[in-house]
Amino acid sequence: MNILFDNSYATLPKGFYTRLNPDPVKSPELISFNKPLAEALGFTDLSDDPETLARLFSGNKIPTGAEPLAMVYAGHQFGGFSPQLGDGRAILLGEVVAPDGVRYDIQFKGSGRTPYSRGGDGRSALGPVIREYLLSEAMYKLGVPTTRALAAVTSGEEVARDKLVPGGILTRVAKGFVRVGTFEYFASQRDIEAQRQLADYEIDRHYPDAKAAKNPYAAFLSEVVAAQAKLIAQWMGLGFIHGVMNTDNMSIVGETIDYGPCAFMDEFSHNRVYSSIDTQGRYAYNNQPEIGQWNLVRLAESLLPLIAGSVEPDETEIKQAVSIAQEILNRYQEQYKENWLSVFRRKLGLFQAQVEDEILINDLLDKMEQGKADFTLTFYYLSQLSMEVSPQDQTLTGLFENTDGINLWLAKWRKRLAHETLSDVERQSKMQSTNPLYIPRNHQVEAAIRAAEDHHDFSVFDDLHKVLQQPFEKQQGKEQYSLPPMPDEVVHKTFCGT
Ligand code: AMP
Ligand code: MG
Repeated sequence: MNILFDNSYATLPKGFYTRLNPDPVKSPELISFNKPLAEALGFTDLSDDPETLARLFSGNKIPTGAEPLAMVYAGHQFGGFSPQLGDGRAILLGEVVAPDGVRYDIQFKGSGRTPYSRGGDGRSALGPVIREYLLSEAMYKLGVPTTRALAAVTSGEEVARDKLVPGGILTRVAKGFVRVGTFEYFASQRDIEAQRQLADYEIDRHYPDAKAAKNPYAAFLSEVVAAQAKLIAQWMGLGFIHGVMNTDNMSIVGETIDYGPCAFMDEFSHNRVYSSIDTQGRYAYNNQPEIGQWNLVRLAESLLPLIAGSVEPDETEIKQAVSIAQEILNRYQEQYKENWLSVFRRKLGLFQAQVEDEILINDLLDKMEQGKADFTLTFYYLSQLSMEVSPQDQTLTGLFENTDGINLWLAKWRKRLAHETLSDVERQSKMQSTNPLYIPRNHQVEAAIRAAEDHHDFSVFDDLHKVLQQPFEKQQGKEQYSLPPMPDEVVHKTFCGT
């Protein structure tokens, strides 16, 4: 298999990373290879041989042209600043420029210790590998910017977590792994030259239009703000809870990164939290937009000297930079709101925007919480309903513990639909293309992990992964994947498991 590497991060100064190879593992076995993704990345002579693929995607055989390195970054974790984190169990193998002209990072996760591992073993348990593979690929098919999964292998070694569990390595692909925390790292070192180099690199790579602006670094901040506002609105539209929105897990290019204890919600609640370590609910579903802004303020702070535009900005220059950054950050809320409205209007089949739509959307969400309705199925069944009241309404109302509220809401929704121009069929088809039937439900993901970790059985993973490839299409014989968990299957907590 040929990978035409074209590495750019490795040309940045030494302080940006440490070069090192992945630690070989004992006896890697291939779990999954995402061949369509490999093709899209421009790999040639694609191999089908599981052993060759396992050697490659375990890091046991370094492909020609790779320049493995671990990136350094810092980050605010649950609000507190850690001045040095970095790729503690990840290694950037290198970059490719794909046939679509976009540059992609190829990164191993679970590939051994690095100088940034702190106390950790640099490894990943198999569970989180399975989890990230399923969730990130589902996210992609759901149309949300995300890192992708290129391959997963077992390592043939055990890692010590609560107990000994099988190890795994995930190969993931991103438009870029630079995070808000990467900027914070150099800012906290007060290394303005490095800050500038990093910002210029990110501008060149992702936001080249910013270069032409009067203040390129302010324009850059503004583009990152816009990308995050859009991304988080998309998460909200799918009932997705990232779980660890630390600044080191927030990507500059605006992709969903670092799938830890994340989850798609079943029964709706505004405050839903799954992560076992998020005891205060800092990263609860409805806190995500605000946390997004909090993180962007950290980015803005890190960019202040660059926005001020002088090597040693004086007080007046810094004040000016603060007011420029403030203005950009103030736009976040409005941008988020616009994105959120457009996501949810579409989910409700509203295409002629009206001011009152926000009330109608929030009203539905409140009814869902009161009625303990399933997030995904509520919108899916709503997508099948017509203008006229019909027995089919019961598919939707049946999801609610008390049907009075949702029946009242449906009457309001239908009144509102009278202002739309689309026919029932046209509206339904648009709604069905945005309201999925299949999401990676926690209990299904858990079942795939259990089978893999406990029985070395990857068929549950394979079946689930296959269904999630077409989240909007009803698939014959796959009803079980659309169903919420039975009471004894409900997953209340998700774990990093790293
Ligand atoms: P996370 O919030 O899971 O993205 O991880 C935060 C930091 O901890 C990052 O710097 C990771 O590289 C590091 N880390 C997490 N798990 C491990 C591990 N098993 N070994 C080494 N470093 C780790
Ligand atoms: Mg992380």
